[in-house]
Amino acid sequence: MASTISKHDTATQTMNFATRAIHVGQRPDPATGATIPPIHVTTTYTQQAPGQNKGYDYSRSINPTRENLEAVLASIENGAAAASFASGLAATTAIFHNLKPGDNVVAYSDLYGGTYRLMENVFRHWGLDARYTDDNTPESFKQHIDGNTRLVWLETPTNPLLRLLDIQAIADIAHDAGAKLAVDNTFATPVLQKPIDLGADYVVHSTTKYIGGHSDVVGGAVICRTAEDFEPVAYYQNAAGGVSGPFDCYLTHRGIKTLSIRLERHCHNAMRIAEHFEHHPKLESLAYPGLQNHPDHELAKRQMSAFGGIVTIVVKGGRDGAFTMSQRTRLFSLAESLGGVESLVNHPAIMTHGSIPVEIRESRGITDGLLRLSVGIEDADDLIADLEQALDF
Ligand SMILES: *Cc1c(COP(=O)(O)O)cnc(C)c1O
Repeated sequence: MASTISKHDTATQTMNFATRAIHVGQRPDPATGATIPPIHVTTTYTQQAPGQNKGYDYSRSINPTRENLEAVLASIENGAAAASFASGLAATTAIFHNLKPGDNVVAYSDLYGGTYRLMENVFRHWGLDARYTDDNTPESFKQHIDGNTRLVWLETPTNPLLRLLDIQAIADIAHDAGAKLAVDNTFATPVLQKPIDLGADYVVHSTTKYIGGHSDVVGGAVICRTAEDFEPVAYYQNAAGGVSGPFDCYLTHRGIKTLSIRLERHCHNAMRIAEHFEHHPKLESLAYPGLQNHPDHELAKRQMSAFGGIVTIVVKGGRDGAFTMSQRTRLFSLAESLGGVESLVNHPAIMTHGSIPVEIRESRGITDGLLRLSVGIEDADDLIADLEQALDF
């Protein structure tokens, strides 16, 4: 069974975010006093008598290292409980599996490519009906919801176009229709935005990104607002078995301890880059929710405590321009993924969003000139200089 926040964490539960990120799920080891709990690699637990154990029996079902990670994840998202999975998509699958054939999901069209692929190429065969709106207003969600809608799925800011969705307003609309709201909080992280406080029932993470933060571990998590909603997720986690291993849990947990200071620097650097390149002659456009001219800037100010570490640019010259620039950067590695301490540049049309059919992709604005920058925590001046020289062609 996945854990709820455990007893040893009650003292720190009422404290503020940065304190909980470091202390929840980090009780010193009772056997040795080790300040950092050991990584429990065991698959099994020795019993005193058949069925008589210390609450641990088999590591797919329960593992102390995973339990510690789940405790801190639940705490930093202000949820009742969390379940850790082997990847972000395994976590997403856990939520879709809560639905029944014939149910429908309403989502905004600018969606992580893998989530779209999962809905269209896996769950549609199984009987799930997914509908997408191209309009980010709450009213548009209302129009897409009908009597079969059981789930509304949001990512905000969206990937890669960085539009914002109003979590609170859409939560109200979903709940009025008897549907649940799930928010993929991978881009914002709980440092910048707490969906559960705004009415979400589920928060999903690809912990592979900012939560892990060092591009060295793949993982995912589901955090639930209520213990009642958590029960089927915990059941699914054990029954389907897509759990994260102890080493992965340890690395992810270690990442969480520096999450708030990393995000401060990510946001600072991204803002510096956005301001510097906003009117660059080699760029057709630049999107960053922190800029005054961003269409959702007011919502970003209301819903987020800062504007994130992702900047999207459209290079003049379409595919050729984007290809040239993305191969000329020296600090920004041309790579999939995001959210690590090192800066990355990604070409969504070919890389992360390649699984979306070309007509759909282009109609959504993911053109061949578009590049997504995951701004790392290096020195901002060095990053700006790198992008300047890369655009000097
Ligand atoms: C990467 C990502 C996922 C998928 O997570 P994996 O860990 O790669 O399975 C889901 N949503 C968003 C927003 C992502 O960036």
